Amino acid sequence: MLLEEQRKLVIETAQKASLEKLVPLTFGNFSLRDEKTGYVCITPSGMPYGLLVPEDIVVMDVNGNIIEGGRKPSIETPLHTSIYRKRPDVFGIVHTHSTFLTAWSCLEEGMPCITSEAASLAGGNLRTAPFAIQGTEELAEVTSEALGNDKAVLMANHGAIFVGSTIVKAYEVGAILEESAKVAYLAYTLGKPNRISEQIMKALEKTTEENYGQDK
Ligand code: 13P
Ligand code: ZN
Repeated sequence: MLLEEQRKLVIETAQKASLEKLVPLTFGNFSLRDEKTGYVCITPSGMPYGLLVPEDIVVMDVNGNIIEGGRKPSIETPLHTSIYRKRPDVFGIVHTHSTFLTAWSCLEEGMPCITSEAASLAGGNLRTAPFAIQGTEELAEVTSEALGNDKAVLMANHGAIFVGSTIVKAYEVGAILEESAKVAYLAYTLGKPNRISEQIMKALEKTTEENYGQDK
């Protein structure tokens, strides 16, 4: 089987997201790009995450041509492949429908960055990509366009998508942003929270990259 370890990592990430309630039922989708072959390993469409085995993960090239796998791939394959084509720095993509981020995705203005951790790990304010029907080329186009060079973008009335240099990092951005979305919801319910300035956001991102955690 091609890319067995990579397929297992995709399943592990999807199952973690499901356990952490970042996706309801079979919604959301997960992929990684293998550095050596350039192939993309992506979750199948509409299958329960708890039951996935490596054979269920579909291996394709970056244009969506299937290389190995008997399952129908995620309907958001065009979105994942268009991000990989536009972003040579991206090797992992996570799409979730987590509750608080999805609530913020219903507002045109996006989600303001009011927590240090969102600034540190996810790069700050979140834009909302225009609405498009799930699984369409149009959704792939408007969402990858709105993502630009960022780590995350909201998908109008739908959910959010996160990218990273690995699928693990993309997952972490999604998990941190869901917590920040919850905090932002609470803070705006309490009053008018202070925003973090662009300058402070950049400083937080830089110090986290350089100083946070164990020596790299
Ligand atoms: P798939 O199960 O086909 O990946 O679709 C789920 C989803 O979230 C569509 O946007
Ligand atoms: Zn979705």
